[in-house]
Amino acid sequence: MDLSSPKTIKSIMAAHGIRPQHRLGQNFLIDPRVLDIIVEASGAGPDDLVLEIGPGLGPLTQRLAGAAGTVVAVELDRNLVSILEKTVVAAHPNVEVIQGDAGRIDLHELLHARLAPGQKAKVAANLPYYITTPLVMRLLEATLPLDEIVVMVQKEVANRMVSPPGSKEYGALSVAVQYYTDVRIVTTVSRTAFMPPPDVDSAVVAMRVRAVPPVDAPREGFFRVVKAAFGQRRKSLGNALSAGLGIDKGLVQEALRATGIDPIRRGETLSLEEFAAIAREINANATDTANSGVTDEV
Ligand code: SAM
Repeated sequence: MDLSSPKTIKSIMAAHGIRPQHRLGQNFLIDPRVLDIIVEASGAGPDDLVLEIGPGLGPLTQRLAGAAGTVVAVELDRNLVSILEKTVVAAHPNVEVIQGDAGRIDLHELLHARLAPGQKAKVAANLPYYITTPLVMRLLEATLPLDEIVVMVQKEVANRMVSPPGSKEYGALSVAVQYYTDVRIVTTVSRTAFMPPPDVDSAVVAMRVRAVPPVDAPREGFFRVVKAAFGQRRKSLGNALSAGLGIDKGLVQEALRATGIDPIRRGETLSLEEFAAIAREINANATDTANSGVTDEV
């Protein structure tokens, strides 16, 4: 049974008296080529565990089951979970479906309980679009044992993920994705590849998780600087950092001068290396100030 066939999807839904839930981002993939592209980009092989978020009626799950050793799929909708048990799990014993919210479930526990020591999992998903960014950020920030994340997202979000400094799409999401991963757009996908079609076009994005960050700076300090720089986009870098970090303007100007970065630039022009240089400098200043006993507020 090909679960990407519109006829099959319609008949399964009719048999269970259900409809696609817009509020859960249920746009089911009906293009088998796109499903194959996702599986291939994930690089899943017989020794791999793949975590799928939002399996829906299981068109991707059944393909992943053929390629990977184990598939663990987290689905929020209880109706779909019980259908998946009968369709996908019954036919593929290497698939486990867990009912839950991928934004809340303990992914550390889920993965560590199923992986061998030192093993890394892959993520493959056609993500529910209403929570794409928080879910991607969760996967990145939680420092999970992952080596590859392949997700379908809105095209506009995919462009933000890969955009370079200075472009209008460049922002905190671009920096975070590029800090944690080596990212690329695998393919763009027309809205007609889904049933029902969403209002936007999409793209498959592959993120290879980096073993080591691409820049040298304490992670927390780096992201504090990034958040402050993008927090007030209309302000110059000097003012945005001072307001966002709660640090005196003079100290910020000094740190920027030391790194050779013009304080009148905007956050969206800074490279990862420049954010790291500022974070190192501010961190060093904070340490100096704390050591001098002048203040402990920085
Ligand atoms: N993978 C299927 C496909 O490609 O046809 C369905 C993809 S559909 C875009 C997103 C799926 O995510 C839906 O099945 C929806 O019920 C599920 N979902 C929505 N929010 C979720 C959440 N917080 N946690 C887990 N699954 C969720």
